[in-house]
Amino acid sequence: MYLYQHEFLPKDELRISSDDRGYYFGDGIYEVFRVYNGMLFEPAGHYERLERSARDVRISLPYSIDRLDGLLRQLIELNKLSEGIVYMQITRGAAERTHAFPKQAEPILTAYCSELARPLQALEHGIAAVTADDIRWLRCDLKTLNLLPNVMAKQAALDQGAQDVIFHRSGTVTECSSSNIMIVKDGELRTHPANHLILHGITRAVVLRLAAELHIPAKEEAFTLDDLNNADEVFLSSTTMEITPIVSIDRKPVGSGAPGPVTRKLQSAFEHLIGSGNDG
Ligand code: PMP
Repeated sequence: MYLYQHEFLPKDELRISSDDRGYYFGDGIYEVFRVYNGMLFEPAGHYERLERSARDVRISLPYSIDRLDGLLRQLIELNKLSEGIVYMQITRGAAERTHAFPKQAEPILTAYCSELARPLQALEHGIAAVTADDIRWLRCDLKTLNLLPNVMAKQAALDQGAQDVIFHRSGTVTECSSSNIMIVKDGELRTHPANHLILHGITRAVVLRLAAELHIPAKEEAFTLDDLNNADEVFLSSTTMEITPIVSIDRKPVGSGAPGPVTRKLQSAFEHLIGSGNDG
């Protein structure tokens, strides 16, 4: 079952207008939530980010967060989802194609959930990444539907035999195509500050929280491609990929070429957290 506004419908009964501004302009925002054991993971962080994206692109949320939360929980229940994701998007609505905001359109919410196993292979062995210019706009903190640069970069990485791309702006590392990135040097964690150049990842925030609990020093400070290439450990963080080690960059091994001890410590704290039913 899909969620359309506040109704639950089978996928083939969904009727999305070809005038939807999401379709013409990518004029909308979205969230991807993780579901573990049938429960939303870190929902408060996702709702806060959704509210911020909505406010800054001037789309009014069709429902209160409480109502939205109830609808998403119902969606999970109806689909009997235990482990997977909930995808939710809200577009500015349907209106004749013109750039200016429509006067009448009502925002359109759609959501679905799907089963998704934890990426155990990648978590265990790590992935290969390549670096690329970050050619995106200057509001990467907003979770909007405009993902063409991310899509292009991800595909280019796959075409080169890697699994993901690490973006940099003139040598300053920002994030990956759909995840944040952290490096470890001499036992210290470093990641780009949560400003307009990266998405403020929910998993990124969880990792920083776990690092503090584990007394792993962490700095939210930009780092360069040189720092990246000289790092002892590198990993990405995201809702679907959790804490995935990056073991090679541009075909050169990171550190020993295998996931490092700080990454392993964080991964195991993360596993403990998701096993413990985080439904805050
Ligand atoms: N950066 C980008 C560009 C993303 O698309 C994502 C995935 N939503 C992230 C970072 C990671 O965010 P989160 O941990 O909230 O999934």
